[in-house]
Amino acid sequence: MTLLEAKNLHVVLAEDDVKILKGLSLTIGNGELHVIMGPNGSGKSTLANVLMGNPKYRVTGGTVKFMNKNISRLTVDERARMGMFMTFQHPQEIPGIRLRSFLMSVSQSTGSRVPLLKMSKEIDELSLELGLESELIDRYLNVGFSGGEKKKAEIVQMNFMKPRFSILDEIDSGLDVDAMKSIALSINRFRNPENSVLLITHYQRLLEYVEPDRVHILIDGLIAMSGGKELVREVEENGYEAIFDSLKGV
Ligand code: ADP
Ligand code: MG
Ligand code: MG
Repeated sequence: MTLLEAKNLHVVLAEDDVKILKGLSLTIGNGELHVIMGPNGSGKSTLANVLMGNPKYRVTGGTVKFMNKNISRLTVDERARMGMFMTFQHPQEIPGIRLRSFLMSVSQSTGSRVPLLKMSKEIDELSLELGLESELIDRYLNVGFSGGEKKKAEIVQMNFMKPRFSILDEIDSGLDVDAMKSIALSINRFRNPENSVLLITHYQRLLEYVEPDRVHILIDGLIAMSGGKELVREVEENGYEAIFDSLKGV
């Protein structure tokens, strides 16, 4: 069954009308993991933000459906309540809020009746699994965290909140090999037939550990090509330029 369906999306920056997405379509089924790769500036983060409902981007055409409902007019918060989740390429530091209390209050605000002690224990277990220092869970969110620790904290959030649909924007950027591997393994453990993941990356490394159902190449605001894992190797060997040229028939 289809979980997310974006159709013919046209998107401009809200502040200056520059076109970023130019008719992009994407369909993701329940339980599927899709990968989006593409050169810097091609619109990957824009797509992530638009799916999540960030008002900085203006949708001038097309629709986004989630669980068969047109969500185009819903706010970020409403989308999150429906089960959408996004990690950020550059996670924000939030002085005053600790990861543990943040997670527990989000969980309670969405109606969870799980006892606090049990929640707290789960947070400890998830952090341990990921190799995130337990001391960081009780520090202000992301404040003084290294790049890798911020990314791990985001993956703890995903595992704890168990969203139906997770958008991971360059979760692998700036990570050393060990951190990348533990994040990849955590994504694998998280996967089940009920949740779906959109993994945005411009490195191939993560895909040594994570098995995608579908790979899309985003170039200049459009999905230029979709396929299986073999596309990853093609990009690695020939680069995006070659794919772009082959499409133009050069
Ligand atoms: P990617 O994630 O693939 O690197 P982005 O979606 O971040 O690409 O950016 C696509 C294009 O839109 C780029 O040319 C970028 O400069 C521009 N852009 C995106 N967001 C903003 C923003 N908030 N302000 C200015 N330009 C932006
Ligand atoms: Mg970029
Ligand atoms: Mg980006």
